[in-house]
Amino acid sequence: MVKFLDLQKVNAQYSVDLKQVAAEVIDSGWYLQGEQVKQFEAGLEVFQEGGHAVAVANGLDALRLILRAYMELGFMQEGDEVIVPANTYIATVLGITDNKLIPVLVEPDLNTFNLDLNLIESKITSKTKAIMVVHLYGRVCWSNELVSLAKKHNLKIIEDNAQAIGALWNGTRSGNLGDAAGFSFYPGKNLGALGDSGAVTTKDAELAKAVRILANYGSSKKYVNQYQGLNSRMDEMQAAFLNVKLRYLENETLRRQEIANYYIENIKSDKLVLPNAGDLHEHVWHLFVIRTNKRDELQDYLQENGIQTLIHYPIPLYKQECYSYMVDISLPITEQIHQEVLSLPISPVMNIDEIEKVVMALNKF
Ligand SMILES: *Cc1c(COP(=O)(O)O)cnc(C)c1O
Repeated sequence: MVKFLDLQKVNAQYSVDLKQVAAEVIDSGWYLQGEQVKQFEAGLEVFQEGGHAVAVANGLDALRLILRAYMELGFMQEGDEVIVPANTYIATVLGITDNKLIPVLVEPDLNTFNLDLNLIESKITSKTKAIMVVHLYGRVCWSNELVSLAKKHNLKIIEDNAQAIGALWNGTRSGNLGDAAGFSFYPGKNLGALGDSGAVTTKDAELAKAVRILANYGSSKKYVNQYQGLNSRMDEMQAAFLNVKLRYLENETLRRQEIANYYIENIKSDKLVLPNAGDLHEHVWHLFVIRTNKRDELQDYLQENGIQTLIHYPIPLYKQECYSYMVDISLPITEQIHQEVLSLPISPVMNIDEIEKVVMALNKF
């Protein structure tokens, strides 16, 4: 069976180091807000080539905290609008609605699966305060026009970088393009912890400070509370694991890019639409997502042939029970994407036999 993602194998590569640092954390007697987290934040700042990094508990919290910090700093308030792609993972939008902000869903581009930047301006109202771009599946969503548009309307650009750590747009890291970015280190992400964790990055020192305080009960001095904060800190154990794995991220990204290129060059089928890679380095292939109007049939066929695939995502977020007030929304491109996409196995630990098996099965479909 070609697994969609063999996490056991991913972490087995580093198991000696992971066990070593786990023992160090256990023996240190210090489990939160210590040296491992400091080291991880510094390492992420170096990796991002600038800005401030604040380690938090998970990717959803990273996005919640950015918006909450902008609210505390007076840049936006309850009822304001945030523009966001309609086909994203629901966490992007939960970060918005949790703060009682209004998500304004915009259709993606069918070729890139990313927010269609041409559709944004018509959605801007006097209440719009931010554009949340999602670098979906690992491909950067950015343009110079987007920056001008945000400047013209005084909007913040927030990047949901949960899937794209390591990508570059014209030499700049994703997560360092906009005003602030949220990262996820969920185990299956390109930089995965061995549990939940996330981070916020921003060039804005004031915002970074507000996020840090908010993530620690709204307090920067013990028992003195400036904001009604939450408890959203990365623990020392996860930071220690990430300090090990961050060293190998570039290598793993290169491997993902090699596999994606192999798929693109060798999958030949007029029934399938392969993903658009963009410029070199623009895509870090968190997911390799193809489209076909025979999606369910293809998934069954691959399963029968020993290849595990997933659908990202089967149901649009605005058709979920929790957002039942959005029932009337109709977004045909988003709906088409949810009906046609299929994610093939891609991970740095796949071997050539597995990769060829996927290609051969697809070419025979
Ligand atoms: C994974 C993910 C998140 C949430 O991250 P968690 O760490 O799981 O909370 C947010 N947005 C996108 C696009 C994601 O893929």
